[in-house]
Amino acid sequence: MIKAVWIDVDNTLLDFDACVKAALRDGFAHFGLPPYRDEMFPVFNRVNNEMWHRLELGELTREELLAIRFDRIFEALGFCFDGVTFEEYFRNYLFDSTIHVDGALSLLRHLADKYVVCAASNGPYEQQIHRLQKAEMYPCMTYCFISEQVGAEKPSQEYFDYGMSILRGEVWADAVTGGAFHPEEKKDLSQLTPDEVMMIGDSLTADMAGGTRYGMKTCWYNPQGKGLPEGMAVDHVVRTLEEIKKFL
Ligand SMILES: [Mg+2]
Repeated sequence: MIKAVWIDVDNTLLDFDACVKAALRDGFAHFGLPPYRDEMFPVFNRVNNEMWHRLELGELTREELLAIRFDRIFEALGFCFDGVTFEEYFRNYLFDSTIHVDGALSLLRHLADKYVVCAASNGPYEQQIHRLQKAEMYPCMTYCFISEQVGAEKPSQEYFDYGMSILRGEVWADAVTGGAFHPEEKKDLSQLTPDEVMMIGDSLTADMAGGTRYGMKTCWYNPQGKGLPEGMAVDHVVRTLEEIKKFL
């Protein structure tokens, strides 16, 4: 029986792609770069995903990633511009961007009535909490496990250990509390096992592989209907967030 739900934030609850496109369009205009065109997004995506994947593998730190990301992206786009300057502008823009994925708030409200809901995100702490608050999603979260505060990234064992220890009441940090955290009505999850947790997310590496390896149930949010790579198994695949209400 599922008792807790961990849900990824970017491209699961908040439409990160739409936020990024808006940030690039605005930033290119601001710095007088060539105007943003839709064909540029796949280039951004390829380089950015490569770098996040290297971070998941432990080959890059977050600081290193942020220091070189836009240099690599501009190189791939054939521009010359200072990546660090753009990174700052880009991150400020994203800090305030909260375009919802369809049905995200309705799903969260549904889940929050039945389960302990945890945001499970690789990202900067202050930014992710601010975006969840601005998107009105924070009140649905009992806990927020944001990698910068956790000190480890999905899919690492340390990240999952940390969240489980919080849920079981073995360790504590004020920073993990969400808007739905009410100590007086805290459910006893001291015996919680990973198979009583459902991990929902769009990333096959960070969310699905991470959750599966840890022994959690998994739900892959796959809006584009991509095929599952060979040898990989998940418990549920959905193309819309609405479908999740059928089994949770
Ligand atoms: Mg994601």
